[in-house]
Amino acid sequence: MSVENPEWSFETLAVRTGQERSQFNEHSEALYLTSSFVFRNAAEAAARFSGAEPGNVYARFTNPTVTAFQERLAALEGAEACVATASGMAAILATVMALMKAGEHIVASRSIFGATQQLFGTILPRFGIETSFVDQGANDGFRAAMRPNTKLVFIETPSNPLTEVFDIAALAQIAHDGGALLAVDNCFCTPALQRPLQLGADIVIHSATKYLDGQGRVLGGAVCSNKALGEEVFKFLRTAGPSLSPFNAWVILKGLETLSVRMQAQSANALAMAQWLEAHPAISRVYYPGLPSHPQHALACRQQAGSGAIVSFDVKGAREAAWRVVDNCRLLSITANLGDTKTTITHPASTTHGRISAEARAASGIGEGLLRIAVGLESPADLQADLARGLG
Ligand SMILES: *Cc1c(COP(=O)(O)O)cnc(C)c1O
Repeated sequence: MSVENPEWSFETLAVRTGQERSQFNEHSEALYLTSSFVFRNAAEAAARFSGAEPGNVYARFTNPTVTAFQERLAALEGAEACVATASGMAAILATVMALMKAGEHIVASRSIFGATQQLFGTILPRFGIETSFVDQGANDGFRAAMRPNTKLVFIETPSNPLTEVFDIAALAQIAHDGGALLAVDNCFCTPALQRPLQLGADIVIHSATKYLDGQGRVLGGAVCSNKALGEEVFKFLRTAGPSLSPFNAWVILKGLETLSVRMQAQSANALAMAQWLEAHPAISRVYYPGLPSHPQHALACRQQAGSGAIVSFDVKGAREAAWRVVDNCRLLSITANLGDTKTTITHPASTTHGRISAEARAASGIGEGLLRIAVGLESPADLQADLARGLG
């Protein structure tokens, strides 16, 4: 029996939910590195396989360490169900494969993770699922893109790298009016700062690789939803196999224990960086929902409990000037990853968004001078000194 109490606060749930102690009464969560489970007799094996008796069978279906992670994340998102997956992309694929069929349609914001754009734009059409990409954050664009066969509306908020904030409650209404589900990729905020299900979304997607682990160690993902949708996602997962490894589940489970303090501290560091960048003469624009200058600052304040740790900014002088900042970094890591305690810096136009055409990049506002930092736990003063060297 696990001990959780639904009255507990987020911080307590993050530390305590989902643990079932073994006969050794261990204090830390056990890591069950096993692919299969043994039955006492043939009848028990038959009952477990048929589902007549609950219990573990095989780790493609369930594993107690993975179950503990699922229960803990479900509690944090306020979800009835959570299905863990091998990566964030596996979570998105499992959602689509479990809930959609050929002939159906997705409406997605253009500013979603690159691999998600590729999945929706180039792979799903081979299976008869079309996606309309909405370029602007305005809700009208989503309403106009809805078709009678639209099954899923998919957004990421705040978006990457320009931190555009989408109105989850309004988009849930638009999706539901059209008979569709709203899925929110909650990777940037995590449930510590934003709980989309409470705002009307039907599905929350996670790349646990990012802030849930928080220390850049393992890949993982999750789909959070109500029980009925969760059962559909689980049926796909147990058959198709992109399941989370117990080791990765254990690492991320421990990551969840510090999620709230990390998100608060990293948001505070990010705000300090955004304010400093906004005042810097070599920078023309800063994108951060926590700044009053951000176009959706009021919406972000309403919808999020903090502004997150992703800050983007335009350096005057385009690519040459932006690369000079990157090349002068000794502390910030030059890598596209985010969600780590170590601050990272990326030049989107030549890396994460390098494969899309220059026109498409310009249309989505990703200029040659744009840099994105994912702020970690180092002191802002040290990070500022590192950036100042290249900003000149
Ligand atoms: C990284 C990322 C993903 C994909 O997650 P993986 O764990 O790398 O598969 C999906 N969405 C967002 C917003 C991400 O940043």
